[in-house]
Amino acid sequence: MPVSLAINGGTPVRETMLRYGAQSIDADDWKAVENVLRSDWLTTGPAVAEFEQALCDFTGAKYAVAVNTGTAALHASCSITQVSEGDEVIVPAISFVASANCAVYQGAKPVFADLERDTLNIDSVDVARKITNKTKAIVVVDFAGHPCDHDALNDLSKHYGIPIIHDAAHSLGAMYKGKSIGKLYNYTNLSFHPVKHITTGEGGAILTNDEELAKKLRSFRHHGIDLDLHSREIRNSWEYDVTSLGFNYRIPDINCALGTSQLKKQFGWLAARRSIAASYNAAFSELPMVEAPQEREGCQSAWHLYVVRLNLRAMSVSKEEIFSALRAENIGVNVHYIPIPWLSYYKKLGYERGQWSVAESEYERVLSLPMYPTMTAQDVSDTVEALYKVWAAYRL
Ligand SMILES: *Cc1c(COP(=O)(O)O)cnc(C)c1O
Repeated sequence: MPVSLAINGGTPVRETMLRYGAQSIDADDWKAVENVLRSDWLTTGPAVAEFEQALCDFTGAKYAVAVNTGTAALHASCSITQVSEGDEVIVPAISFVASANCAVYQGAKPVFADLERDTLNIDSVDVARKITNKTKAIVVVDFAGHPCDHDALNDLSKHYGIPIIHDAAHSLGAMYKGKSIGKLYNYTNLSFHPVKHITTGEGGAILTNDEELAKKLRSFRHHGIDLDLHSREIRNSWEYDVTSLGFNYRIPDINCALGTSQLKKQFGWLAARRSIAASYNAAFSELPMVEAPQEREGCQSAWHLYVVRLNLRAMSVSKEEIFSALRAENIGVNVHYIPIPWLSYYKKLGYERGQWSVAESEYERVLSLPMYPTMTAQDVSDTVEALYKVWAAYRL
C-alpha cells in the first residue's frame, strides 16, 4: 500500500503542530517577575546586577553587561571595538541577519566568509583569505550551538590584531576543549529571545573578561553617560556628563528577574537537549534521507538547533516539497538560515550570489527539526516517524 502523506489527504502523524522551538516558563518564573512588579525598581535596579552575576557564574566570564536585545549586544560590541565608516567586518555567510547588521549600523562593510562543511561554522581558512588592512573585526557564530574552531580564529585574531566579536546567541552552555564559551573572548554576545536557551522576553548580554571594556559597555547602554561621575554625584547633584555617543539599550529588572530564574534551569535543559539530539542521531543512523549533525572531538554543542542535511539525490522531490510534507504531518520544521548576502537589502548593497560555495550549496539541503528541552519522548518519536514516512513516499 502506498504511504498516504497528510499533504495528499492522509492522516497526519500528530494532531497538533509541534513547534521547532519553544520557551519553558514555570511558577518560579512567574513568582520572580511578580516580586519585581511589587518592588520599587522596574528598571536599572538590583535584578539587573543579580542577573549579570548569575551569567558570570554560569559562563565563567568575569563581567556580564545585560542589554535589551542580542542585537543591541552586537551593536555595542561593534561600537566599542571602534568599527566605523569604511571599515570591513568579516561575517559568516549564513547566520541570523543581526550578525551582519551590527557592522552596517557602524557604517562598515560586512565581508562574508564561507563555512566549514561539517559544522556550518565560519571557515577560518576563508577568514584568513579575506583579511585586508581595512578589517576591523571578525564576527564568529557558534551555529546551532556547536563551537567554532576557536583556536584557529583566536590565532588569526592575535596574529593580525583584529578583535573577535563572538555571537554566542546559540551556544549558552557550550564547551570548547574543556572551556566554557564565556572564557574565550572579550566580546561574547548572548540573546534571550524566547527561541534561545533561556529567555527574558527580549534581552541580550555581552560577556567580557576586561574591566575597562565592561565599563565602556555599561556606558554605551546608558546613552554614553559617564558612570563614574554618575554614581559619585547622583545623590547630591544634577551633574552628569556624556563622554561618547551611547544608546538606551537598558534591560528592565522585570526581564532580568525572569532571566535569573530561567538560568537556574539551564544545566538541566542542556542535558535534555543533548538527550534529544542523541535520540535523533540514533533514529537517523538508518535513514538515508538525512545526514545527522555531529559534534567535533573536544566540542560540546549547546544544541540550540538540530539541523540535518537532506540527501536530495536520493529523493524524487525538492526541499520545498519535503518541508511542506513535514509541515502537513504537523512537524514544525524550519530552515536556518537564508545566506545573508542573498537578502534583498544586502543584494542592493552589491553582494552577488555564487561566492560562498559551501554556504550556498549546504543551504539548499539544511532543515531544522523541532528541538527544545521540554519536548516529550512522544514529540521526538513523532518527528522521527514523520521523516521515515516522507522518506518512504519520496525515495527514489
Ligand atoms: C537571535 C540571534 C541574534 C539576535 O538576537 P535578538 O535578541 O533577537 O536581537 C543574533 N545572532 C544570532 C546568531 C541569533 O540567533
